[in-house]
Amino acid sequence: MMPDDFDEDRLTEEALAEYHEFEEWHGDRVCSCHISPPCSYCTHPGNPMNLIEDDGAWQKAEPDIMASIREAARKP
Ligand SMILES: [Zn+2]
Repeated sequence: MMPDDFDEDRLTEEALAEYHEFEEWHGDRVCSCHISPPCSYCTHPGNPMNLIEDDGAWQKAEPDIMASIREAARKP
């Protein structure tokens, strides 16, 4: 299940690579914490749940927004 505020477009390049790696890797794997917690599914750095917790995985959106506002204001 994908967390609601997970926005792939805002990930840093590095985090996005981790995420794609996770997607490729996990295939039809699911959480197996009931067998041996924490499982490799939950601890994978590209798991959206982990990316959400990792502030370093996200681009700072604000400067970009400000830049595009300035950009838009410059246009006639
Ligand atoms: Zn798990």
